[in-house]
Amino acid sequence: MTINRTAVLQTIIEEQLKPYVKKVDTEAFYAENFLRKLGEEGFFSSENKTVKEYILDEMVIVKETAKVCMTTAFCVWCHLAALTYVRNTKKDGLKKQLLPSLEKGEILAGTGLSNPMKFYAGLEKLHLSAKPTQGGYTISGVLPSVSNLGEDHWFGFVAGINENEQIMCIVPCNTKGLKLKEKVDYLGVNGSATYACSFTDVFIPNEWVLSEDAKGFIEEIRPAFLTYQIPLGLGVTQASISSIEIVCQRQNGCNQFLNEQPEDLKEKVESIQKKLEIIFSGDRLNWKDIAAVKLETSYLTLKAVQASMLHNGSAGYIQDSPASRRLREGYFFANLAPTIKHLEKMLNG
Ligand SMILES: Cc1cc2nc3c(=O)[nH]c(=O)nc-3n(C[C@H](O)[C@H](O)[C@H](O)COP(=O)(O)OP(=O)(O)OC[C@H]3O[C@@H](n4cnc5c(N)ncnc54)[C@H](O)[C@@H]3O)c2cc1C
Repeated sequence: MTINRTAVLQTIIEEQLKPYVKKVDTEAFYAENFLRKLGEEGFFSSENKTVKEYILDEMVIVKETAKVCMTTAFCVWCHLAALTYVRNTKKDGLKKQLLPSLEKGEILAGTGLSNPMKFYAGLEKLHLSAKPTQGGYTISGVLPSVSNLGEDHWFGFVAGINENEQIMCIVPCNTKGLKLKEKVDYLGVNGSATYACSFTDVFIPNEWVLSEDAKGFIEEIRPAFLTYQIPLGLGVTQASISSIEIVCQRQNGCNQFLNEQPEDLKEKVESIQKKLEIIFSGDRLNWKDIAAVKLETSYLTLKAVQASMLHNGSAGYIQDSPASRRLREGYFFANLAPTIKHLEKMLNG
């Protein structure tokens, strides 16, 4: 991202996000205007960029946002995941209908892909079923958590016709038969506009089908889907390191005796960044290489948010302190599909 664009991004974060971070954390406030502003200012546009260029630029947006508020950065990630589906669909009509509005932030979107990701990894059954019908499909079932949703938002999902056939679709939240129930009783990340989504015979016209081969399509979009997650962890880690540095002189520098120090954490961040550079220097983004980096980032994030709690002492133990928020966000990152346990099974099982 150019220096000028980075400055514009920082201004948007400063004006549209920073003042609301506490509200996002304590009142489940959804920073929708921030997301819309990013779109308005062209930060989701892929125009005149190669795939690698736009992914790298969008990773910067996720990381810079996560340094201030990972909950909102997660919403950015949800939108980028949905964008990835529409950018990669072979259905030109759907792409034409949705892509410009998604890239301008006029339509915001989420993704219900954690269940299918787990399904294809042999961890659980598919939650949604699809019955072919005149002009489309009828969908039934429940997705327990889909984030970055609202009345006029859309989200991607996968439904099974039978054991061997699954379709991937995108649907507006206000579709008949689709019920959304808000979820705000999580340990953290409640400002992520997360809903349980119940489908009762929801008609999905063929025009909203992203692919009739969900498994093949997921293999195509998976590298970008996962790559965009890594800066969520890196942003929180860097914010944790900064918070540790701010308090290093307290109590006569007693914090220097703690096991985890900023230098070690910084080295690990740099090592992950180097690995990402190597991944991006190849011809194609390799899914397993990226999965290994996400796993490493997940463990590093947990280490960093815990270190920040220890360095900040009782000031960090206040319920709505930034260190406490990051600790709760860090645990969410570890449980964001593919979770640590899913990645461990996939890479080392
Ligand atoms: C705040 C938040 C936002 C999320 N947003 C999205 C999203 O946008 N899109 C998306 O696809 N996924 C979303 N997820 C799901 C997430 O990506 C992971 O899939 C999930 O957190 C990983 O959990 P898990 O693998 O342990 O499986 P789980 O889904 O937690 O399931 C593991 C087992 O626990 C059971 N279980 C689950 N919840 C409960 C409960 N409350 N009480 C008792 N048993 C339970 C399940 O039935 C299952 O048998 C979200 C999760 C959270 C917490």
